[in-house]
Amino acid sequence: MSIFSKIAAGEIPSYKCAENEEFYAFLDINPLVKGHTLVIPRREMDYIFDMEDDELARFEVFAKKVAVAIKKAFPCVKVGQAVLGLEVPHAHIHLIPMQSEKDMNFANPKLNLSSEEMQAIADKIFSMYNV
Ligand code: 5GP
Repeated sequence: MSIFSKIAAGEIPSYKCAENEEFYAFLDINPLVKGHTLVIPRREMDYIFDMEDDELARFEVFAKKVAVAIKKAFPCVKVGQAVLGLEVPHAHIHLIPMQSEKDMNFANPKLNLSSEEMQAIADKIFSMYNV
């Protein structure tokens, strides 16, 4: 079981931002900016482009809803989307509220936020997802 499968199953704690039966969204533990969120399928697979077309389409629609919630919670120019998957072998999309293209640079230093700050960020996105 991948670490992200365990997160989606609630076996490892995470800062939940949104969920449905198939997909789960939670804060990246090493955020580039406030609101940096990961979106994953509950079904375990490594490579996003191994997903079947219809599952990939549903995944992207879920990511879109989460991105809308992020933008409401953290006003930004746009929410950027990135797929790397070099570290964790479980398909995931990074959603990152951008003020400029610099915010999408994964070589940037990561924010060091307290658990209270992380929880407040996740709660804000969650509340916007559910309106
Ligand atoms: P990637 O696989 O896209 O190259 O990088 C994996 C991302 O997942 C990184 O941004 C990293 O900070 C994040 N990450 C890795 N392990 C955990 C974890 O246990 N919990 C959370 N919330 N994020 C993680």
